[in-house]
Amino acid sequence: MTDQSNSLHVRDVANLLHPNTNARRHEAQGPMIITRGEGIHVYDDQGKAYIEGLAGLWSVALGFGEKRLAEAAARQMQALPYYHTFSHKSNAPAIELAERLVEMTPEGLTKVFFTNSGSEANDTVVKMIWYYNNALGRPAKKKIISRARAYHGITIIAGSMTGLPMNQRDFDLPLPGFLHLTCPHHYRNALPGESEEDFATRLADELEAMILREGPETVAAFIGEPVMAAGGVMPPPETYWTKIQAVCRRHDVLMVADEVINGFGRLGTPFGCDRYGISPDFMVLSKQLTSSYMPLSAIVLSDQVYQVIADNSDRIGAFGHGFTATGHPVATAVALENLRIIEERGLIAHAAAIAPALQDGLRSRFADHPLVGEVRGVGLIAGVELVADKARKTKFDPPGQVAAYLHARAQEHGLILRAIEDTLAFCPPLIITEAEIGMILDRFGAALDDSYAWVK
Ligand code: PLP
Repeated sequence: MTDQSNSLHVRDVANLLHPNTNARRHEAQGPMIITRGEGIHVYDDQGKAYIEGLAGLWSVALGFGEKRLAEAAARQMQALPYYHTFSHKSNAPAIELAERLVEMTPEGLTKVFFTNSGSEANDTVVKMIWYYNNALGRPAKKKIISRARAYHGITIIAGSMTGLPMNQRDFDLPLPGFLHLTCPHHYRNALPGESEEDFATRLADELEAMILREGPETVAAFIGEPVMAAGGVMPPPETYWTKIQAVCRRHDVLMVADEVINGFGRLGTPFGCDRYGISPDFMVLSKQLTSSYMPLSAIVLSDQVYQVIADNSDRIGAFGHGFTATGHPVATAVALENLRIIEERGLIAHAAAIAPALQDGLRSRFADHPLVGEVRGVGLIAGVELVADKARKTKFDPPGQVAAYLHARAQEHGLILRAIEDTLAFCPPLIITEAEIGMILDRFGAALDDSYAWVK
């Protein structure tokens, strides 16, 4: 046997605490080390190829080998590797990208603030909202409403808006003042016989009742992913966003669209807001903004909010918020090149055109499978929920075991997915072809059959 004592596997276990990972299980099983990527594939250190069915973490729009992004980074590194944007300083890529984002996003959003991760962006939005309401002389208007099973990140504020027990338990989250509504998932949470429209009305009524109970003078904002993703891929019921938006407007509650996964073509439209007719006060962007080749996130905010923030910064001396890497020239240069490529190759229209291959393919091949409770999704994002009893929609007890087994089997078959409790999530790179979607379906089908044999 070869000496493994100095292998990357051993050094990983010795030195790394992994995010979102059972640390003791990791000590026993060790890491899966990915060494390179090309198109929709990544390769492990044994040379085995996998289709990255989740685009990394829902983010690598252009696949894993886009040389133009590497070249854009190298060019910018040589011209100006770093500069900041504090105290009136600026740099060309940050300016150009801000201009591009204002052009691309819905009307009324006129200013951009850069951050480094989705979580930081969401924390920043809440700080902006608190600053805004203080500036307006409404110090009590601070509460933030989100939904059960939402994912908005894991920093203290973002983790308070997230609605997943694993991200809150034993972290002393959520903080007070962060409230959660019912998850808008029709399959799980609608009443027997309730239509999508009636379910949406009930959820909007629930929001309004919460605002009235808390007092509209204490409720600052509602945040939501247009299509919920990391909580299990849950598209909203018909008419949901129109109804939610009307309630927010009625009570002067700001709307934050968290487009960290939905943005830049994931749903076959530029943004989730375009798909659902949402006019937000803030849009939060990351992931496909750079295809995750560099860490970058952005907040695009309305002129109305901006004017209040600008006045207050003048009154008290500064908008005292920002990061060392806010507007980083290399990250913003990579984002510009990434957006150029998405546009040149028509990847948003491409996502819309090939979405049926994924959505209809999953439904026609697997919806009737005895292990499958629901197939759901929009554009190039989908979820397949496994159930113990199809007719009764019974969950597995404990949840997640069968999905974890399926996830491991899919990996054996050369397909990386994400297991979220009993749901398997699909979110392939936007560059995927119809033939490659066929390969995902075949490999998933094989893993599903393996899992059925295991459960029986
Ligand atoms: N918001 C949404 C909708 C997300 O899906 C994520 C991450 O998956 C985040 C925020 C947090 O982003 P990050 O992991 O970059 O902090």
